[in-house]
Amino acid sequence: MSSTPRFRQGAGRLCLDFIRTLRHRGSPDVVEELPDAGALSAWVRQCGPCAAGGGADAARARELREAVYVLITAARAGRLPDARSIALVNQAAVHPVPVPRLTSAGRLDWRAEDPVRATLALVARDALDLVTSPSLTRVRDCAGPTCGALFLDISRPGNRRWCSMGTCGNRAKKETLRGRTA
Ligand SMILES: [Zn+2]
Repeated sequence: MSSTPRFRQGAGRLCLDFIRTLRHRGSPDVVEELPDAGALSAWVRQCGPCAAGGGADAARARELREAVYVLITAARAGRLPDARSIALVNQAAVHPVPVPRLTSAGRLDWRAEDPVRATLALVARDALDLVTSPSLTRVRDCAGPTCGALFLDISRPGNRRWCSMGTCGNRAKKETLRGRTA
């Protein structure tokens, strides 16, 4: 890859990658990565299966994102989420998702009439699946002090601590080293 991707991925589930577009969630350094339609469209192109972005309602997407976060947080705590968050995610999940198609060149091509809405439907369906599946017990908070990301720990021992070794894990390792030499 020639340049660093704009949005962080690798949380292990599409819905977890989506909610981390509120970077550094819960810290004073919080960053909104979906401020407008252009940003949302760029996220859809980078993180979803469709090559196209297209028209997008960023405010609605942010609402969905926070509802997904509420659902996952509540499920992890063994609580029921509020009715509005449930309704928001259910509504987003209703829409058709991208459809795969094999091209004559043997490549997989994902199509949707409305790529943004279809990708957000994927996010919503992924969230509904995650909060009701055994994988929920494998959702972790990144140990990075201001990261705020959730990720799916698929390591066999289940002791992964960082959303990514390349960023948060690496930073922690360096800080440990610096602490030792100080
Ligand atoms: Zn992290």
